[in-house]
Amino acid sequence: MNYHQYYPIDVVNGEGTRCTLFVAGCEHQCRGCYNQSTWRLDSGVLFDKAMEDQIIADLNDTRIKRRGLSLSGGDPLHPANVADVMRLVLRVRQECPGKDIWLWTGYTRGQLTPAQQAVVAHVDVMIDGKFEKDLADPRLKWRGSSNQVIHRLADERIEIRQIDVS
Ligand code: SF4
Repeated sequence: MNYHQYYPIDVVNGEGTRCTLFVAGCEHQCRGCYNQSTWRLDSGVLFDKAMEDQIIADLNDTRIKRRGLSLSGGDPLHPANVADVMRLVLRVRQECPGKDIWLWTGYTRGQLTPAQQAVVAHVDVMIDGKFEKDLADPRLKWRGSSNQVIHRLADERIEIRQIDVS
């Protein structure tokens, strides 16, 4: 996987102070995309083990407390990115206790393949759907257009567990 940008301190992409990674590769070709330079899988630079280690270290940096990791792009769920994103989210889960994971994808929740769903199973908040220029609204928080949905997956899992034990 390649990536375009990494912000070790970010307060724009998700709740709280975060680390944010913009990966390369997107097949959605949304009209009005603000990030066309990320469409090609071979754009940007290689996301290597050193970069992965840096993110883990930043998330655990106690001098500037981060609430979690945000994954955007490009599309972190592009089929070619799924394996590397899976490895990263598993490391965050195992090595960064208490940190949440937000993920933006152009696929809708209903379109996800089993491999993409396996990644999303470790994500706390997913914002899904293509950017629709006709539905664009700058007043929206975390979203570019009103068709996109903020899925609070961690909250959904808690609700399901509560139903199971009641
Ligand atoms: S999903 Fe995002 S990065 Fe991909 S084309 Fe649409 S707006 Fe651009």
